[in-house]
This record gives sequence, structure tokens and C-alpha cells, in this order.
Amino acid sequence: MPSRPGVDALLNELAASPDDAALRARAAQSLTKLGRHREAVELLRDRFVNLTAHDGPTLPCLCRRCLKPDLGETHAQDMDFARCFVVAHGRVLYYWAPSELADDPGISRSVGARLAARLA
Ligand SMILES: [Zn+2]
Repeated sequence: MPSRPGVDALLNELAASPDDAALRARAAQSLTKLGRHREAVELLRDRFVNLTAHDGPTLPCLCRRCLKPDLGETHAQDMDFARCFVVAHGRVLYYWAPSELADDPGISRSVGARLAARLA
């Protein structure tokens, strides 16, 4: 996994501007890439309401009650999944994506559109 210099810089920036939602999401994204899943969830939880619907049982549920902050990856049906998230308007939606697609901007765009539609 390539190291992403700059996560500390992002966190420092965020400490100075805690209301910057885009910056907060970016910092959480960086922490996720580094495998610092619990910190990412805590960062998001500070300002974003988890709107993820209760779901299961194939993949671990990511709703507000069930979400396990440390569980950034899981395995089901012979596939590896990575936990991803999108944010919009003070809300966060978590989802599982096949690990090889976790960085696919098409998926996060489509989940983001779903979140935006739910908030509309
Ligand atoms: Zn749940």
C-alpha cells in the first residue's frame, strides 16, 4: 500500500477548521487508505450522521448501531470487501465495495448520488 504523506497535515488543517466538511471527508479518506479505520470513523462521527440502513447478513451491517469502527475489510462469498463511505450535507453513508473496486470513482459517484437523492 503506498504511503500517503499528508494525512498529518490534513489532520492539523482540520483541527484548525473543524467545520470544513470536505476537508474532514478527505482526512477520513486518507486514514481509511492507511488502514486507520477507527480514526476515520471517529472523525466522521464527530460531524456526520450515519444514514446507512440496517442490513445483512451477508456482509457486516454498517448502520449507526452495528458499525464496527475497526472493521475496514471483510470477506464474503469468496470475495474481499473494503468499507467505503460517501458524505453529503452532514450525512455519511457507508458501503462495502469489492476490494479491487474500492478506489473506483464510478462506485463512489453512484453511491453519492443515491445519498443525495435520499436527502432531496
Ligand atoms: Zn445494523
